[in-house]
Amino acid sequence: MKKIKQEEYIKEKRYKLNIKWILTIFILIMIMSLMYVKYIKELTYKNIYKNISELSEQTAAQLNLAIEEQKKFVEIMVESIDRGYFKTTDDIFDRFKVDLEDYNFTRLVILDKNGNGTTSDGHVVENYPNMQEFFSKEDVYLSENRPSTVSDNQVNIYSKKFKFNKKELVLFATINTEDYREILLRRLFNGEGGTYLINNNGDVLIDSFDNIKENNVNIYEYMKKMYNVTNQKDINKINNMAQNIKKLEVGTFDVKINKNTYFVHYEKVNVNNWYVVTVAPDNTIANEINIFITISLGVCFLINIIIVGISIYIDISNQKQNRKLYKTAYVDPITKLGNEAYFRENGTIFLEEQEKNKYIITVDINKFKALNNIYGYETCNNILKALGNKLTKILPTDNITCRISNDVFASIFVYEKNIKRLLDKVYTNASNLKVGDISIYVNLSIGAYKISSEDKDINKVLNKSYTARSKNKGLYNENYYIFDEVLENKLNEEQKIESYMENALKNKEFKIVYQPKVFTQTGKIRGAEALVRWERDGKIIQPGNFIPLFEKNKFIVKLDLYIFEQVCKDMQSWKEKYNFEPNISINVSKEHFVNENFIEEYVKISDKYSIKRSQIDLEITESATIDENIDTLKILNSIKEKGYTISIDDFGTGYSSLSMLQNMPIDLIKIDKVFVDKADLNSDRNIINFIMLLAKRLDVKTIVEGVETEEQVEFIRKLECDIIQGYYYSKPLSKADFEDYFNKRI
Ligand code: C2E
Ligand code: CA
Ligand code: CA
Repeated sequence: MKKIKQEEYIKEKRYKLNIKWILTIFILIMIMSLMYVKYIKELTYKNIYKNISELSEQTAAQLNLAIEEQKKFVEIMVESIDRGYFKTTDDIFDRFKVDLEDYNFTRLVILDKNGNGTTSDGHVVENYPNMQEFFSKEDVYLSENRPSTVSDNQVNIYSKKFKFNKKELVLFATINTEDYREILLRRLFNGEGGTYLINNNGDVLIDSFDNIKENNVNIYEYMKKMYNVTNQKDINKINNMAQNIKKLEVGTFDVKINKNTYFVHYEKVNVNNWYVVTVAPDNTIANEINIFITISLGVCFLINIIIVGISIYIDISNQKQNRKLYKTAYVDPITKLGNEAYFRENGTIFLEEQEKNKYIITVDINKFKALNNIYGYETCNNILKALGNKLTKILPTDNITCRISNDVFASIFVYEKNIKRLLDKVYTNASNLKVGDISIYVNLSIGAYKISSEDKDINKVLNKSYTARSKNKGLYNENYYIFDEVLENKLNEEQKIESYMENALKNKEFKIVYQPKVFTQTGKIRGAEALVRWERDGKIIQPGNFIPLFEKNKFIVKLDLYIFEQVCKDMQSWKEKYNFEPNISINVSKEHFVNENFIEEYVKISDKYSIKRSQIDLEITESATIDENIDTLKILNSIKEKGYTISIDDFGTGYSSLSMLQNMPIDLIKIDKVFVDKADLNSDRNIINFIMLLAKRLDVKTIVEGVETEEQVEFIRKLECDIIQGYYYSKPLSKADFEDYFNKRI
């Protein structure tokens, strides 16, 4: 089958739609996740800032407390010395030695102004430097670290001067800086974070990392070096800290180094304007948070994947569903070509898109019903398939070829060469079909129309090709018919008719004529067939000129009901005036059959005029009875049930099957005029003969129409046909003339 544009269209549309949706959902969730992560991060930073400040404050507080205690101890010692409890410096050492450990002091030292003296653990000290530093302080003083004179350690010294035996001395309580670190400055966060104790110039006194062995290391320079801070913004932050510390302010900041963030807090200590600086890297602090964030992101991503997965799944099943729907809506199951709806939709697009040399053709198989009877259903389906394939192949590439009803194919295409040659080719090539092993010849009717650039309505162009095709049907020696001016005029005429048909009905322009039906054997009148005439502007229009159109546009339904009621009125008047109850045939178009309750309406009308239903003969054409789309048997049975008689009109032209005929509740077979015309009157083996035998077998009466000559009457009488209708007896008559006609004969 040709590529279905419609399917591509649907797919494309759905595809785009879903990608849009999926992407939107994906991006939304991702944005939400990122916002969430950002929020968590900010929260985390705030928390870290708070934590590190607290930590730093605690450390400072602890340090303050410890220094306070140690100072107090030194004060107590000096107080008791002042009170004169001791005779010698050794007495002093002996008294306090035991308490030293409680305050983490390593030793006591007593020195004079020249720096000479002894220690509590028996060392002699000579010329200890910078004694002025200690003697100048009134209160307990805590020194920065300095090398010990008696060991290799760095020490810090608590000092206070005092008078002993009239001499000015100073008492040192020393602590090992290293021990001090252990006690006062904690290492934090598995050793990756820690604390520095610095003086107001930024010189590191103690560091909990134990990294700084030298003296007088400046923390600002050290931090820049140690943490490899090169970023000017971060350098500024460090410089800012230095300034703040000078101003005795506290603060927190963070620096980013190689993806790691270091948080720094500096907190003042109560002694010597020293500061505790706490440093913590975020990879340790934020590790748990990071794990949390990673998990959150993972979960978000997973949810996202699931949602996207579900959408894709839904999309795929939707597409499957769509394709199924599409197939039932647009694909002809027999030929796998597009169906009528498909043709109309894509034809419309085609009319929009293509500019020049556009053609539409419709092709059907003449007497396809007969082929059905001959070859059977399955083979005929294969014939349709083969014809569809052939048309698709013969017609120019990119043709849109569809089966738009039973055996009717329509195709729309662009062709720049000689269209007549192409149509000839279609006629000859597509007539010879190969179905399985057998070659089948089908007689095609082809109607073509050259589409102009103004044509945008697919129904109109389709209609023109239809008109050309029915024209072609009547022309036995033409292979195709191309829509021309003649047909254009006809279509215009039809349009005109359509524009005033409703008014014509209201204005009672439709009149009835009655053509008598006569019993063959007795010559007595049986009744008449009611036939419609259109009297417009004093002219009579024959039904052949409007009934086919009314059947197409369904106006026939209204007209038939109107005729039916008029006939009933006439019949009532004949009964009342002449006590005459003829059997009147009324034509019923098959367009009524789509409405299940149509017969109820007929019953209502004939009952209203008290007409015996058996006196009404409803003529239904043979072609109506073999329409696949109609449950003919059910309809005929319902008509019969109400008591009307039923005739099969135009019998012999429609190829109904014998088995169907057998089951139908019909009263009469009406033999078409063509068989009278064609009858070889001298031969027993003509078609009328055959139909007559058939009717007898089925126990159905026969009526022959279109009988014009004496000869024909004789012939029919011989065949024991029951009723004759034709010009031989009478042309259709007006009501008044028909009244004259029957009054003379009853
Ligand atoms: P039909 O039902 O087959 O009607 C018979 C047609 O054959 C009539 O043509 C009638 O005038 C014509 N006819 C009868 N005897 C002869 C004869 O000896 N020689 C010739 N040459 N013709 C003869 P008419 O009235 O033109 O009707 C044509 C068709 O229009 C009818 O064919 C019927 O199918 C349709 N028709 C007419 N009136 C109505 C109607 O009220 N409702 C419906 N649905 N169809 C109608
Ligand atoms: Ca008829
Ligand atoms: Ca007929």
